[in-house]
Amino acid sequence: MRYQVIARRWRPKTFGEVVGQPHVVETLMNAIQKGRVAHAYLFSGPRGVGKTSVARILAKALNCLDGPTPYPCCRCGPCLEIAQGTFIDVLEMDAASNRGIEEVRGLRENVRYAPAQGRYKVYIIDEVHMLTEAAFNALLKTLEEPPAHVVFIMATTEAKRIPTTILSRCQHFHFRPLPSGEVKRLLAKIAEAEGLDMDEEALDLLARASGGSLRDGEMLLEQVVTSAQGRVSRDQVAQLLGLVEWEVVEETYKAILEGHDLRVLKLFQEQVVGRGFDVYGFLEELAGTARARFLEALGKGEEAFRHQTLLDLVLRLMERVRRHPLPEVLTEMELVRLASLSHLVPLDELVRRLEALEVSEGPGVSPPQKKERPGGRPRPSPSRREEDQDLARRLRDAASQEQPSLTPILDKCKIYLEDGYMVLESRYKLGTFERARLEDEATLDFFRRFLKGMGEEARVKLKDNGERVWEEEEEEAEGDSILEDPRVQRAMVLFRGRVRKAKTQKEG
Ligand SMILES: [Zn+2]
Repeated sequence: MRYQVIARRWRPKTFGEVVGQPHVVETLMNAIQKGRVAHAYLFSGPRGVGKTSVARILAKALNCLDGPTPYPCCRCGPCLEIAQGTFIDVLEMDAASNRGIEEVRGLRENVRYAPAQGRYKVYIIDEVHMLTEAAFNALLKTLEEPPAHVVFIMATTEAKRIPTTILSRCQHFHFRPLPSGEVKRLLAKIAEAEGLDMDEEALDLLARASGGSLRDGEMLLEQVVTSAQGRVSRDQVAQLLGLVEWEVVEETYKAILEGHDLRVLKLFQEQVVGRGFDVYGFLEELAGTARARFLEALGKGEEAFRHQTLLDLVLRLMERVRRHPLPEVLTEMELVRLASLSHLVPLDELVRRLEALEVSEGPGVSPPQKKERPGGRPRPSPSRREEDQDLARRLRDAASQEQPSLTPILDKCKIYLEDGYMVLESRYKLGTFERARLEDEATLDFFRRFLKGMGEEARVKLKDNGERVWEEEEEEAEGDSILEDPRVQRAMVLFRGRVRKAKTQKEG
């Protein structure tokens, strides 16, 4: 006997064997039981979830010698012939290759004749959305006055493309994509029956790669069977699927969490792009890792926010990568950004910090010595606040004109004037690239010109979420007495900085 592929051999033969579509199966079985079979059905849903299999089972149920029965015997002549596709009263048509009016006309002619052997003539039209308009119109005429002995079963992956005139004459069943856990369970069962020894992770990966389509999963398993020697590992399956190794994914995830943006970049460029791996597949794996970590953390009652946020961001990135003309460049950029978000703060913490800022200072800093002064420092006068807001707004406007790539970084900063400085204070730790972008000469030059244009004699100071302070240097030092200035001392405490050069500013 000829070798039959797994998908074929494991195709469900009875309603009981159909997986993941209980709502469809139960309704159909009830209808057969009660003799209330419709004249036309539309099965819609993603590919490889059992639409044609169910159509054939329904054809058997109607034509089985024991039938009509929800439990076709699978042994009688009609049952066997339907399974082989040779039964004269069950006609399968693929609308993807026979789109035209001729076929539908032929079908209309044919419909009028009583079944030759069976009880019902069953027409299974696959990919029915592919029919031409004329063909649909011809089909509609048949559906309007169907002979009692005819059942139409139309299957489609795109129900939206079916004319409403047709839809209104069909019983419509929505087939669902299979949950990955269900696909995994079935693939494990098949693998075992095929004598295949597979790692749990290898099965996980196959199930995920099948994207809810059991048939895709079975076809992948077929490839594994063909190439496997000994126990099948996750990496073997990854290789087969053209996916990068587990370690690369894990290492990238770790580097993102730890904020090593350059390492992330290097891994992606060398291990993914450089070796010709599919970017989307890599991101899928990365999302899988984030999800696993998230669930793990939840399970242990640990803080899961960072994994959750990363998962969310990677999923969003996947969406964009699909449509982007340069997926590699986009991914590269976004992965670096993810790494720069590594110091992700839980939302409630963020809210708490923002509230603390609101009540304490005004523009700028929460000083460590705040509690020493009862009553706290006076809130800044509204005019001061407004001035700062105005400054920030103007700076952003100017940047969007002259330095557009700077604006997203500025959006992450509070901008205010303080003690002769225009301070840009980031709300969280900036990534290497963001910091470099802020500190480069062209940017500083832009800030200087901006300040000059505003008539401000201020220098520039960058504060990276309290961790690191950078300030524009003066050309020359003019003595150490400035260090005794209380404002300078306060600034040094606040910014955890030190004075490298000092210069007395002219009054006024
Ligand atoms: Zn039978």
